[in-house]
Amino acid sequence: MLKDGEKGVIRQRGKDEPKYAIAPHLPCGLVNPDQLRRIADAAEQYGVPALKITSAARIAMIGIEEGQVDEIWKKLGMDPGQATGLCVRSIKVCPGTQFCRLGKQDSLAMGLELDRIYHGMVLPSKMKMGVSGCKIQCAENCIKDIALYGTQDGWTLTIGGNGSARPRLADLLVEDLSFEDAKSMVARVVEYYRENSKRERMGRMVDRLGLDTIKQDLGL
Ligand code: SF4
Repeated sequence: MLKDGEKGVIRQRGKDEPKYAIAPHLPCGLVNPDQLRRIADAAEQYGVPALKITSAARIAMIGIEEGQVDEIWKKLGMDPGQATGLCVRSIKVCPGTQFCRLGKQDSLAMGLELDRIYHGMVLPSKMKMGVSGCKIQCAENCIKDIALYGTQDGWTLTIGGNGSARPRLADLLVEDLSFEDAKSMVARVVEYYRENSKRERMGRMVDRLGLDTIKQDLGL
């Protein structure tokens, strides 16, 4: 029996002969026709019972037998996305200025940068990130551990949001950051979290230490 994360699987229901789901990594939910064809071809060839678009904008192939996992990954030729474990999960990103008429900043460019740097990075607990092109926050910034949204004046960084069984809305950390300053500030926050979290989500750490203390420690 495979464990969650082993060979990129998520174990599903059933104790004796469980089925598995796999979800290729599609940075920021961007996908091209060739990737879609490969997923469709593999699903048909191996009789995958269901394909599901996930909340992290990936395409999960559901109901796979253990013996099919290696062959399907080989056929796909794609990397697994991080859906389990104590690490940075797939980053949720809206279309931003590249495609949305309301966008104020290029969320796709920022999201791809964050994905390149952080996706899969091991941390004290799981971490979800979101990037939105404007304050409407279609990437659900308010329930992300670290999130950025764009305004006319730059990027606004929020921390400490999560969904889960004990939901928490994010707190505003700093506003009006340039693209590069926003990236640097995310790096500082991730490092601060790595050093100070007691294996808790960002929001629990903010509650324990206090937002003012964190701001002071970060020189804000
Ligand atoms: S957050 Fe703003 S820019 Fe992004 S999709 Fe929503 S409305 Fe458009």
